Amino acid sequence: MGDPACWLDRVCLECGRFIDDEHASDDECPHCGAELDVSGKPGR
Ligand SMILES: [Zn+2]
Repeated sequence: MGDPACWLDRVCLECGRFIDDEHASDDECPHCGAELDVSGKPGR
């Protein structure tokens, strides 16, 4: 909690909405249905 970057991969690139914990591992956005790039996280 604190680092804004920690939830950046939880935001849909299509609609920009936050992806719930519940849907964090989903393949698509629960809001707009866009494909989520779960495996291609930038990470460091
Ligand atoms: Zn979306």
